[in-house]
Parts: sequence; C-alpha cells; structure tokens
Amino acid sequence: MKKYLIAGNWKMHGTKQSVCDLVASLAKLNLASNVDVAVFPTYLHIDYVAQSLSKSTIKVGAQNCAYQEKQGALTGEISAEQLKDIGCKMVLIGHSERRQYLAEANQVLAKKFIAACSVDLVPILCVGETLEQRSSGNYQNIITNQISSIIDIVGIELFSKAIIAYEPIWAIGTGMVATSIQAQEVHLVIRNFLANINTDLANNMQILYGGSLNSTNIKDLLGMPDIDGGLIGGASLSAQDFSLMCNLAGEIN
Ligand code: PEP
Repeated sequence: MKKYLIAGNWKMHGTKQSVCDLVASLAKLNLASNVDVAVFPTYLHIDYVAQSLSKSTIKVGAQNCAYQEKQGALTGEISAEQLKDIGCKMVLIGHSERRQYLAEANQVLAKKFIAACSVDLVPILCVGETLEQRSSGNYQNIITNQISSIIDIVGIELFSKAIIAYEPIWAIGTGMVATSIQAQEVHLVIRNFLANINTDLANNMQILYGGSLNSTNIKDLLGMPDIDGGLIGGASLSAQDFSLMCNLAGEIN
C-alpha cells in the first residue's frame, strides 16, 4: 500500500497564538496507517511546534537551511545542524518562492541539499515550471533539468535520500490547481527520468504534488498512480482544512 506524505508549508505565517491554536488541533489528529504528516513552520516557531508535537507522529521540518551544515560566521542564517538539534526531521530545498524572490540557484540549492543530508535531515527538493514555460511546451525538460542539476552535484546516492515535490509555479497560491492528468503526466516524467538512472531509486522516490491543493481536490490528485502525497501551503494554515486533507488521504487505497 502506498504511504502518503501530507506536508504543510506554513511559509511566513503565524503568531505565537495562531501557531499554538493550530498545533493544539493537529496534536489530536488520528492518522490512518497510510499517511505521514509533516509541518514546516517559520524558524521562530519550530522549537515550540516540535515540543508540542513530541508525542504525536507528526514530523517537523524547516522551510530552508544554510548552505553550510555547521554553525559558523554566516549572519542571519540557520544551519542544518541547528535544525536537527531543535527537532527537525526534514527541510524544504528550492521552494519556487526562494528560487524566484531570493535568487536561489541550483548551485546553492545543491549545497543546501548536501548540508541537510550530512545531518540526516530529509531534503524535499521543490521543482516546477512557470506558466510561460508550460506554454512553451518545454516544461518537462525544465523540470528534469532542475532535478539533474542537483543530482550532478550531490550524486545519486545522496539524491536517493530525498523527496521530490512537483509544484507548478502557476498553481501555487493561485487557486489554479493542476488537473490530476496534468500532475500525473509530470510525476511520471520525473519517475521515468529517475528510472533511466536507477530503477530502485525511481520506484522508491516519493513525489509530492503541490499547488492549490485543498479538501475538494486532494483525493483526485493523490489518487493518481505516481502522486505520493501533497505539499500544501494556504490550506495547511487551517487546522480544520489540513486535518480533513490528512483524513481524506487516509481514505485513498
Ligand atoms: C506551496 O507554497 O508550497 C504551496 C503549494 O502553496 P498553496 O498550497 O497555497 O498553493
């Protein structure tokens, strides 16, 4: 049976009170055996969330990490080692908002990927195309290039520790969700691309879909053969919506 990962990216959202309320609800979740859940609060809230969820199976991750794994002279950054120490299990690498607005390129993302793996944080590598790139018809190559440029630097062995999140940029925060057919097409392209390198890697790789997922479309998308979970932004900020989505994933078999 497929094991789904439902991941909530809280982005730059949350106050002490709203995070406290959200976590109190999530701690009560009764998850189906085929569902894993992870949440990605801001750095400020990771410690509180990790402690509050310590009795739950919900994992806590970070939305980013420094490109050096260890502590050091890098003002304003947080290292993978520090994230591990505070209770993180995973880290998002290369979310499109960081690629777009903070100019994070594949070279630096590969360093972050290596930093994460060096302390056993699972990197969730985010890839996806803009609407223009989709319209150009070249989106499949753009996505596989995003993946291969990381593999070329980190190597296939390290890459096998990752999770991939396919997030079409035009679907993020727009309400324009990819259809299950559009998403499945890209997920299969990614899996076939990996299979050309190593079949086990391809078969074992969890590939999440992200982009305007909500409780009305999640079953449709996660019901597709190559979609292994969801990376959820907006809807993960509502305890009610996110809990419902986790429960709906548990109903897919
Ligand atoms: C995201 O930012 O990773 C995301 C998928 O956002 P949303 O669900 O709001 O589209």
